[in-house]
Amino acid sequence: MKNSSVSYQAAKEELKRAVDIVELIGQFVQLRKAGQNFLGLCPFHSEKVPSFTVSPSKQMFHCFGCKKGGDIFAFWMAYHHVSFPQAMRDLAERYHVSLPTGTLGPLEKAKFELNEALLEINEIAAQYFHQLLKSSAKGEPGRRYFARRAIPAEIIDEFRLGYAPKAWDGLIKFLKSKKADLEKARQAGLIIAKEKGGYYDRFRDRVMFPIFNMRGQVVGFGGRVLDDSLPKYLNTPETPVFHKGKLLYGLHASYQAIRKSGCAVIVEGYTDFLALRKNGFHEAVATLGTALTREHIRRLKGYAREAIVVFDPDTAGKSAAMGSLSYFLDEGLPARVALLPGNEDPDSFVNKKGVVAFQGLLENSVPMFDFFIDRKLSEKTDYIENRVDLLKEIIPVLSELRNSAQRSLYTRRLSEKLGIAESALIEELEKWGRQRSWTARQNDLVEKVTASKAKRKDDLFLLNLLVNYPHITQRVINQDFRLLLSDPAVIQIFDSLAEMHAKEGPLPAAEVMDRLEAEDAKERLREAMLMAPFCDDNEVELALAEFEDRIQKIKILEAKKKALKKGDIEGLAKIPKLIRERWG
Ligand SMILES: [Zn+2]
Repeated sequence: MKNSSVSYQAAKEELKRAVDIVELIGQFVQLRKAGQNFLGLCPFHSEKVPSFTVSPSKQMFHCFGCKKGGDIFAFWMAYHHVSFPQAMRDLAERYHVSLPTGTLGPLEKAKFELNEALLEINEIAAQYFHQLLKSSAKGEPGRRYFARRAIPAEIIDEFRLGYAPKAWDGLIKFLKSKKADLEKARQAGLIIAKEKGGYYDRFRDRVMFPIFNMRGQVVGFGGRVLDDSLPKYLNTPETPVFHKGKLLYGLHASYQAIRKSGCAVIVEGYTDFLALRKNGFHEAVATLGTALTREHIRRLKGYAREAIVVFDPDTAGKSAAMGSLSYFLDEGLPARVALLPGNEDPDSFVNKKGVVAFQGLLENSVPMFDFFIDRKLSEKTDYIENRVDLLKEIIPVLSELRNSAQRSLYTRRLSEKLGIAESALIEELEKWGRQRSWTARQNDLVEKVTASKAKRKDDLFLLNLLVNYPHITQRVINQDFRLLLSDPAVIQIFDSLAEMHAKEGPLPAAEVMDRLEAEDAKERLREAMLMAPFCDDNEVELALAEFEDRIQKIKILEAKKKALKKGDIEGLAKIPKLIRERWG
């Protein structure tokens, strides 16, 4: 970190020692041991075959797919969408390391302070709504609502449910009494600015559901009306700490149970979630009144091996489920759909029939793919037209499936359901695939033009040697190994290393990494550090000799070229001798 004070740096080092990166990342990504490292599905890009690597010995992670990587701080920042100072603070709190107030860059400082202020003001608001519900006369309508829903006191306390009074300035008065900054409250989405100056409360006469991040902090609210008026739900608008498309209600409380069973149950509303929770069912999460997003599914993948989406039978529920099918397929998280009978939602169902009946419903859930097809087929009465429509929709989804075994399984199922020959479907898929692969081919071409892959292998090999056998550094620097490199990022690493080595002598690779400026240089070094050594101890000498041989050839070739160009006959005449001397 630039501009950081010495003590800030010390705290950073202390944290790096205190935190085990496998344990930390393992809380958010399912990791399994693979050799010296741990592997999992990357939380930052779509993949079905794990290329997300965590190294306990080097205390770093790297994704060989999307190239994201770094140390504990880099992970925390990327996963939680927070700044570096925020990551420091979170980890310090989690691992009981005290943090000095270091000097930050002005931009980082401003961002950090804003997020802090928004979290703080959300916390004050949560206390206000909760206290009002628990002990104020004004909270009576809220208490009646939760009593009607049979939500017990433990749940009200655990999820800090609350009530926003029927007033334009209930929260505003409270914030003023706490000397809170009203402009910050506006930025947190709690109050709205009036045109002629001043503010008014956004949430009025609603029961309040605080929404927590994975760290258990209140980042926003969902407010529900007490009657049937509209809008039924009102959420905090997007703020720097509140992103609807990324948050899942209740995940912070459910993730351990989800990990244990391997299955996440997705419901639509806060009250559905709470009703299940109250009945002892701990593997649920709820969306915040939006359709499922790719980000949601990617996040769940860190805890679940399978998801079951629970929907009530109204059409809105069904189309929402269909929209997410391609995300589930794409992210490789198997998904099923559980349909509730009649006019029930999970809340009413579990309250009436109990948790065992709900579990029965989950057991009878159907694969989302089948659900999608059956639903489509029942949409229109014209059978032929229906099938054509369905094919148009399903072929692109199927061709997205990168796992060929899965694809042929689904193709067979589709053929059975539609009564269309499997071969005809495969032909359609191939046709679609050919259209699509045009972009893929173009990408290949771009890659070929920008980099000669064979040459780049040398870069990586050499880097790998240097990282695993630092004692060769001086020899490599002396021997003009730079001549073999073609990747600008690796050349940069090489030059920085040579410079540091000249001034300070041998340095550990992690230290070199910390000092590199360019992101692509860091990326290459990380990759080299996380790959297994390309050769054993006793092969190092051989590898070096081979490299040195090639360097000599290059040098001689260049000398020859130069001599030819200049018409330097004498110089040219020396070349065969040079070759003889080296290679006999
Ligand atoms: Zn990745």
